[in-house]
Amino acid sequence: MISIRCPHCHVGLKVDETKIPPQIQTFGCPQCKEPIPVSLITQKLRTDDSDTVILNLPSDYQPIGRLKVMQNPLTPSQTIHLNEGINHIGRKSNVTNNPTAIETGDKLMSRSHIAIEVKKDAKGKYKYFLSDTKSKNRTLYNSNYIESGEVVALKNKDEIQIGQTRMMFEE
Ligand SMILES: [Zn+2]
Repeated sequence: MISIRCPHCHVGLKVDETKIPPQIQTFGCPQCKEPIPVSLITQKLRTDDSDTVILNLPSDYQPIGRLKVMQNPLTPSQTIHLNEGINHIGRKSNVTNNPTAIETGDKLMSRSHIAIEVKKDAKGKYKYFLSDTKSKNRTLYNSNYIESGEVVALKNKDEIQIGQTRMMFEE
């Protein structure tokens, strides 16, 4: 067991280093859900703390991808964490409480602008499928407009623009 501190929310974590799947480079913090690099575990040895939570990673654990929203005059930089299933992404409103909504003053972004479906393939690996949900101002995917009804399989570092707001997909 190794004790570390989440670099994002600073919660104490106890990790069984022998249980970490060799293929992963990051794992999600159980508290703030931000990615913690595995390298942190192998580097930092710390003494125990009273607020430490024990983290058990299942052997088939893999992080789900996220959208890094880039800062612009209308939008603060933020990270949207995707969940398994269909994620509706658009401008946050006071009425709906959508966990994948974007905090922005960008009025060219619809409240439901794009959808990203997250599902496992036959090998159990997460795949990501982007579509435009009939938005008023359309969606740019790597600088090309997504056609109505088109579904795009996302790859790491792909760029999406909705309204005036750009974001990068990270696997
Ligand atoms: Zn954290």
